Amino acid sequence: MNKQVEIAIIGAGASGLMLAGMLDEKNIILIDNNSKVGSKILISGGGKCNITNGKVKPSNYLGEQRFIRNIIKRFDQYALLKWLVNRGLKPIVRTRNQYFCENSAKELVDILKREGTSKSYQLNTTVKKVKYLSNRFEIETTTGKIIAKKVVVASGGLSFPKIGATSIGYEIATSFGHTVNTLSAGLVGFTVQPEQFFFKTLSGIAIDVKIRVDSKEITGALLFAHKGISGPAVLDASLYWNRGKISVDFLPTLSIDSLKSSKKHLSKILGLPNRVAKALLEVLEIEDKPANRLSHKEWEQVEILKEYSFAPAGTFGYSKAEVTKGGVATDEVDASSMMSKKVENLYFLGEVLDVTGELGGYNFQWAFSTAFVCSKGIN
Ligand SMILES: Cc1cc2nc3c(=O)[nH]c(=O)nc-3n(C[C@H](O)[C@H](O)[C@H](O)COP(=O)(O)OP(=O)(O)OC[C@H]3O[C@@H](n4cnc5c(N)ncnc54)[C@H](O)[C@@H]3O)c2cc1C
Repeated sequence: MNKQVEIAIIGAGASGLMLAGMLDEKNIILIDNNSKVGSKILISGGGKCNITNGKVKPSNYLGEQRFIRNIIKRFDQYALLKWLVNRGLKPIVRTRNQYFCENSAKELVDILKREGTSKSYQLNTTVKKVKYLSNRFEIETTTGKIIAKKVVVASGGLSFPKIGATSIGYEIATSFGHTVNTLSAGLVGFTVQPEQFFFKTLSGIAIDVKIRVDSKEITGALLFAHKGISGPAVLDASLYWNRGKISVDFLPTLSIDSLKSSKKHLSKILGLPNRVAKALLEVLEIEDKPANRLSHKEWEQVEILKEYSFAPAGTFGYSKAEVTKGGVATDEVDASSMMSKKVENLYFLGEVLDVTGELGGYNFQWAFSTAFVCSKGIN
């Protein structure tokens, strides 16, 4: 016999779990294809989960700014932290206003599970399709059919398929007439073209840089990697990159003029790890000699280190990306309840929407804020 419920939540990840805990209704089922809930939370933030950020603004997100503001303001970082602290979490700030769990992301998952204890889980179950049949939704899964009055799509994006990501959220949206804006991997490293293959020889070394993508300037660490470049500044840059060139300032805190009178070799005064300095000088065909002996022409070449421009070949893809850019168009979703404006009793939460946060806890904040708004709409 088919299971009958009031509310079916597709996805027991960040937003789905939070919503389940906040809903008054008891006849709820959370469906997830993993064998445990909150899989992504558990591996996030190096196992400690970067829950939110001390400074959250709509401009930390790609997406429609008014829609984002309306949702975040109803359950912002202070409200989230208060909610968690009241339930026993002791979040701590690490770098750049980022709040993490004290010891392990499990602390957060345990709280979310505890809040939702009265709700039932259907794990190891993959949702295949959702249909609408006279006032009810029929959810086809790998373990049978579920009939629900309301369906909440909290199935996340395409990143990290190895822990359950599928395209089901976008498929459901499209099948009900929603627009899904172009999807691509976000918060992800860049692969490089042959001219930048020398980056790969520096694999494992991290340096502080400033990256410019379009009109955006991002300061932070760049990590040279086997496949190209990664690290926090690069991940953030990937949010704003749509093919074309980026430019890297390898000397973000140095003025070239301050170096010109030095008697030391150039590679020693750039403030870069020796291997990086040597590789960059070699590629730019600048002889490594005492700085005060460089010609005007050579200094012009050194200036390139302040604005090294190149076009990445692509990204490391969804298998390494932390998020998916694009998604369900937000002008088709009611910001006061997260309900579809096209289909009554169908809701969209979290990453499946066309809203993507920067690195730093913004994506979990988004997932939790949308869950709160939805819970108010349904309750
Ligand atoms: C490695 C990694 C680290 C990250 N670290 C951080 C961080 O520290 N801070 C931060 O803010 N953000 C971080 N993120 C991003 C963050 O995890 C997501 O933005 C957030 O989890 C999205 O919440 P959600 O509820 O929309 O989806 P999810 O939390 O992804 O939950 C969706 C759930 O639906 C399930 N599902 C998918 N398809 C189906 C299907 N067909 N049938 C059944 N179940 C299905 C999935 O398995 C998953 O459990 C990280 C992401 C990754 C990949």
